[in-house]
Parts: sequence; structure tokens; C-alpha cells
Amino acid sequence: MSIRIQNIVPILKARAFGNTAEAVIDTVSIDSRSLQNSAHTLFFALVGPNNDAHAYIEDLIATGVQNFVVLHIPEGCANKANFLIVENTLDALQQFAAYYRCLFHFLVIGLTGSNGKTIVKEWLNFLLSPDFNVIRSPKSYNSQVGVPLSIFAINEKHNLGIFEAGISTVNEMEKLEKIIQPTIGILTSIGSSHDEGFLDLEEKINEKLVLFKEAEIVIYQKRDLVDKLILPRTKAFTWSFKNAEADVFVYKKETENLNTTVYYKYKGNSHELIIPFQDKASIENAISCLMALLYFNYDSTTIQSRMLLLFPVEMRLKVKNGINNCSLIDDSYSSDFQSLKIALDFLESQKQFPKKTVILSDIFQSGLSNEELYSKVSQLIISNNISRVIGIGETISAFKDTFVNCITFNNTAEFISNFENLDFANETILIKGARSFQFEEIVYLLEEKTHETVLEINLNAISYNLNFFKSKLKPNVKIMVMVKAFGYGNGGLEIAKLLEHHKVDYLGVAFADEGISLKNGGIHLPIMVLNPENTSFSAIIQYQLEPEIYCLKGLYAFLKIAKEKNLYHFPIHIKLDTGMHRLGFEEDTIEELIATLKGNDTVQIRSILSHLATSDDLKHRDFTLSQINLFDTMSSRIVRELGIDPIRHILNTSGISNYPDSQFNMVRLGIGLYGVSNDPAEQKYLENVGTLKSVISQIRTITAGESVGYGRKFMAEKPTKVATIPIGYADGISRGWGNGVGFVSIKDKKAKILGSICMDMLMVDVTEIDCTEGDSVIIFGESPTVSYIAKKLNTIPYEVLTSISQRVKRVFYR
Ligand SMILES: *Cc1c(COP(=O)(O)O)cnc(C)c1O
Repeated sequence: MSIRIQNIVPILKARAFGNTAEAVIDTVSIDSRSLQNSAHTLFFALVGPNNDAHAYIEDLIATGVQNFVVLHIPEGCANKANFLIVENTLDALQQFAAYYRCLFHFLVIGLTGSNGKTIVKEWLNFLLSPDFNVIRSPKSYNSQVGVPLSIFAINEKHNLGIFEAGISTVNEMEKLEKIIQPTIGILTSIGSSHDEGFLDLEEKINEKLVLFKEAEIVIYQKRDLVDKLILPRTKAFTWSFKNAEADVFVYKKETENLNTTVYYKYKGNSHELIIPFQDKASIENAISCLMALLYFNYDSTTIQSRMLLLFPVEMRLKVKNGINNCSLIDDSYSSDFQSLKIALDFLESQKQFPKKTVILSDIFQSGLSNEELYSKVSQLIISNNISRVIGIGETISAFKDTFVNCITFNNTAEFISNFENLDFANETILIKGARSFQFEEIVYLLEEKTHETVLEINLNAISYNLNFFKSKLKPNVKIMVMVKAFGYGNGGLEIAKLLEHHKVDYLGVAFADEGISLKNGGIHLPIMVLNPENTSFSAIIQYQLEPEIYCLKGLYAFLKIAKEKNLYHFPIHIKLDTGMHRLGFEEDTIEELIATLKGNDTVQIRSILSHLATSDDLKHRDFTLSQINLFDTMSSRIVRELGIDPIRHILNTSGISNYPDSQFNMVRLGIGLYGVSNDPAEQKYLENVGTLKSVISQIRTITAGESVGYGRKFMAEKPTKVATIPIGYADGISRGWGNGVGFVSIKDKKAKILGSICMDMLMVDVTEIDCTEGDSVIIFGESPTVSYIAKKLNTIPYEVLTSISQRVKRVFYR
């Protein structure tokens, strides 16, 4: 893309400020973290319910970004860059995308439906790419923001577009239609997901069909409601399992081995097609692809040979622990330019190690010549500060000189035989390759070998929950997030990095060493240490952590060290005991506290805090209000007599919800960030963050009278199918959860725990579940929830979460 800013102004109906006459842009961005932002990026400052990208503009200008679409010019930024002021930055992004789309005239397939959009898109891309230069939405970019961003990747060489559109309520599709402008429509499976946004099925289908307003043809599984709602001028191209009237009538299905053979009639002739899947959803998605291929007039031999190679689609980027303390980003199934950009942004957002390696295969179907392509890839890699590139494939090897610090191999086998010499250690490695290169073998070599139990952490859910609580804060109230105990068991550093991006004001940890590892990991946010031992004061000072001081003895000890080191205004936090009776200055010590700190400039009281004992239980409302009152009185006295203006804070998660009038200047968010609320009504608004997963190691069927496990605690009364799962009390699963109390989820069904939980294993009843060895098992997550387990075990979610042992690997994803 190369567009003059001047030409954009009328399209966005913007008011332009700055030197826009000369400015030219070549990319569009909404992500302030992307290292790909440059002087020729047009940055759209989107505003979410709680996240306002205008806050990042000053930083972006400092890194060289020059062109912004904004609601207003942020303070101090005027004259430093070009600004296009609009009424709504999201609308502007969409208008610009619609304009950009109109610059191209080519075939575009538009996909929508409740399920299968991304899979059908990826499969069609695979099936059609031998004959077309395809541009497609990367990953599942199908939202009001994702669709515009997908469109900006089109260039002159593309001759087929495949874009997906996802909507959650009415009036959304109209905007996406203007951007995608599909010529061919495919309606994938219409399930019940996202139904909340629609009155009924009819409204939902009607809204989805808006995407096909101008399409020449629409492919769908025949059903009366769609037949009725589809515009009369649109040509329908339908398929069905039941209705022989459909254009393609699938009259028989047979499954064998891992395949399904479908027999279908088309234009009076019968054909058969082998699909390398057995499940219903994959069969339906494959038939959607078959329809597109028939529409493109492919013969049945070509269709069959290509369809046999269909593959499962991995939609998310996964972060895994690697050997030698490496961190892996596994994107081993795609290699197009667009998804490389996304993966590099993701790599940057991880900020794990300064050293970064990219393992990259040949890139296919960019629409560009190889010279152009690899020079663009090289620029991208340079702008992302990648330390080394390992290219695999004959084409990328031929362009080795385009890259800096690049090693190449002709194929994956050659890489593998040189593996030992490549010295992977202490670095983040992005593994990105086209399917044919089988990079999963590389991932396997690089992956730290552990047993199959992992705690998956959804970073997006953390952002979501943070924003939910932020929305409850009054203007100017700051937020401290508690990441003590390894982020409540969820992983400290990764979460802290995300919080730093979201510009929270403070982090809180329990002990100095937790704070030190965050600082060593590159966290710059101020960090309060709740429980500083006197022996850690030197380290606290060295690492610029901020101690909570909760008694006179601690105050004197800290002052002594601080004086020796000639500190000036070193930040400290004063904890008051208002009724919790754990840590804190009591009322009768306040006078001495004040006297000691009067005129002292070695330290500075950055904040005054107290902690509520029972903010979650409204039965004790009067007690809590008395704590809040006492806090107000005691802290006001310190403020007045010392003539200072510190941050005051008392609310934890439940406090934020139940005592909104007592936010003072800051709140301390803990458990809520991790998706757990003490209030069932509030729980509905939070997203689940952690999913503890394992797999089935072995399945056997026992007869009536046989027993399971230590102590023969479970006796079968009838034939029982038993699955063994490699997770036990040493991983943090309480023994109290065994013996029929608890369950795990397998294939969305409950499997009761049989007998006693062992140290490293437990057994469950899968008599009623159609499952096999190797199937995935959910220990907690959406079901059962951590709160449910806690209730049954007579404890609190905090304990369940923080009990998960460190030997369980944490895997983070977005
Ligand atoms: C842990 C902690 C919090 C956070 O509590 P949640 O109930 O998890 O929100 C707040 N303040 C202090 C002092 C804490 O120790």
C-alpha cells in the first residue's frame, strides 16, 4: 500500500492537522506495541470501554510514528505529528478499509456462519492456492476490527480473496459487507453460538445473510429458513444430506479407519469423495469446500487428490517452554506474510528474552516476486530486532544474503541433523513454517519434555477482567494489581508484562524475591512488597522495590539502612491495622510514626493502605464500614500532621464490587483479575483465565466387584470403564476431591473421580463417555470452575489456584 494522507482526509471526513501535504503511508496499525510501526504507518487510536489508545500516542511519536487518526490530539502532542481528527476512530478504520477494498477488482469469497468459518477459510486457501494468488484473513481475524486489518494486506498481485466475517449482534454485518464485498458467499454451519445478540434464529440468519447482499452466488446447507430469507436475485448453490432437491445431494456416508467417504449426486452424476476426518463438523466444513471447488469447475480427480490432504487447523499462537530455558512460539502450520507479521507482533509482546530467533520456511503465495517478498520479510525481521534467522527451504536459502545473521538449510531434515550445533539457549524462538515443511518435528525437538499436564492461561481473558474492574473505578482512581504467589498460581512475569502494557499503576507482591524476579524480567512498573523481611531491605533498595512498612521496628530498621545508603525520598508504603489484625500500625503507634517521619527526607510515604477482613461478606457490612472509617481517620491524621499527599487505598477485589464509595485514590485488584469472583452474580461478567488440562493415559474396563486405586476405596457395582489421568496431589489436586466428590471434564461430559487420588495420577469413570487414550481432560476451567471445586472442598478459590504445583507447566495464549 502506498497512499497519500491527503487522499485519506476526505474519505474519513477528517480535520487534518500537521504537515499532511507530503505524508505517505504504507501500513495501518492499531497496535501500539508493534515494532512494525514506522514513519509510514497510519495509526488508528481505537477507544474501548476502558482502553484508550490515545494514551500511547506520545510514546509512538517518540519511536517515529508520524500519522494518527484520533478523536482529539493528546496533550503535548500537537505539532509533533500529523493528526486526522474524526468523530469515531473505529468507523474511520472501517471507512478506510472499504475505500481500500474498492481499489481492487477480483474474486472474493466471503464466509460467515456460527462455526467453521476459520477452518473452511484455511482449507479453501490450501485447496485453491495451486491456481490462485490468495489473500485471506489471518488467523480468525473476523471482527469489526479484524476484517479491516485483513483487507489492508491486499496487493495488486492477488486474484482471489477469502475473508471471514463474525458478528455477535444486529447491524454489524452491514459494515463488514462494505469492507469485504464478497462475490461468492459461503454460509458455514449455523449453530447456537453467540445467540444472545439475536432475538431468534431468523434474525440471526437474516443478519448473516447481509454479507451476501451483492454476491453472485451463495453456498449453504439447504434449509427452509435460509431459502426463504435469501435475496431473490442471489443465486443459491446448496447441498444437503436429506433433501434431494439440493444442487449437491449427499445420499450416503461411510466411515472407516480415520476417513469418511461421502457419496453425492451433482448434475445428475454420482461421485464419491474420501474426506480424511470422521467428526460431523469436519465433514460439513469439507462439504462447504467441495461446493466451492465444484463452483470453480474442478474435476472430481483433482478435488479428491487435494481434499485427501486436508489437515486440522490450529487457530492460536501457543507459547511453550523450550529446552535450555528457551521460550517457544509455535506457529508451525502457516507461512504467509500476513501471519508472519502477526506472529512477530506476538513475539514482541511476549518480551521474554532480549535474544530472539525466527525459524522460517519458504513463504508461499505472497502475490509478490521472490525478490520483493524476501526483501520485505527481511525488513520486517530487522524492525522486530530479531537476533538470528534460521531459514529452511530452497527458496529462502537462495535469498540468505537478504538477511542479517542468517543460517539456512535446504530442508527440515538438514536442520535436524545440525540441531546440536545451533546452541539454542535463553532465547525466544518463533517457529513458523508452511505445512509441507513439517515444522512440528522442530517444535518437538525444542520443546521441554514434560508430562502432559498443563495450566493454560488465557491472556485475553486477563485483559478482559482487568477492564471489567477498571470500568468500576471513578475517574483518576489508580489500580494496583496483586501478582503475589506467582500471579495467584497463574504465572508472574507473563502476567506482569501484560499489566505493564495496560498501564496499571502498581504491582503488588508478597516477598522481595518475587519483586526481584519481575524486575530482572524487565518490568518497569513500581512494585510494592507487602511482606518485606528486614533481611531483604538491602535488596529492596538495590532493585528499586517499594516496601510496605507495617510497624515501628520495621520502620526503624529500614530508616537505618536507608540513611547509610544516603537515600533521598525513597518510596515506602505505610500499612495500618484497622481490624484485620494481621500486619499494620495500630492506632496507638501513629503518634510515634508521625514523630519519626516528621522532617525526614530519607524516605517518602508514597501511599497509606489498610486491608479489609471481610469485604466479600455483606453480613459483616457494619464491621467493614468501621474499618473504612478508621482507615480514613488514621490516614487523614498522618496526611495532615506530616503535610503530605500520598495515595490512599483499602479495597481488594470484593471491596471494589461492594464498597464503590471507598476507592480513595487507588484499589488493589487480586483474584478478580484471574477470573474468580466471590459473588456468583459478578462471576457471570468475568472470563475464565486458567484451564488445567491433562490427557487420558490408559483406559480399561473392570467388572462388578473389582476395585480401583489405593485402599480399594472404589468398588465397582457394574462393569465400569476407567480412565487414568497423569495428575495427582503432588500437582496440587486435593485428596479431598477424590472418592466420588469431584469430577473432571472429558468431551464436555463429567467424569467422576474413582477412589483415592494418587500422588501423580487419578482415575475417573468414563463408562458413559465416548473417549480414547490420549484424549484431552479438563481438571478445572469452564467446568468444573475453580469456585465450584473450592466450595466442595470447604475452602476458597485462592487456595485451589495457588496450590497448583510449579511442576505443572504454564502455557500462555491469546
Ligand atoms: C492479596 C491482597 C489483595 C488482593 O485481594 P483479592 O481478594 O485477591 O482481590 C489486596 N491487598 C492485600 C494487602 C493483599 O494481601
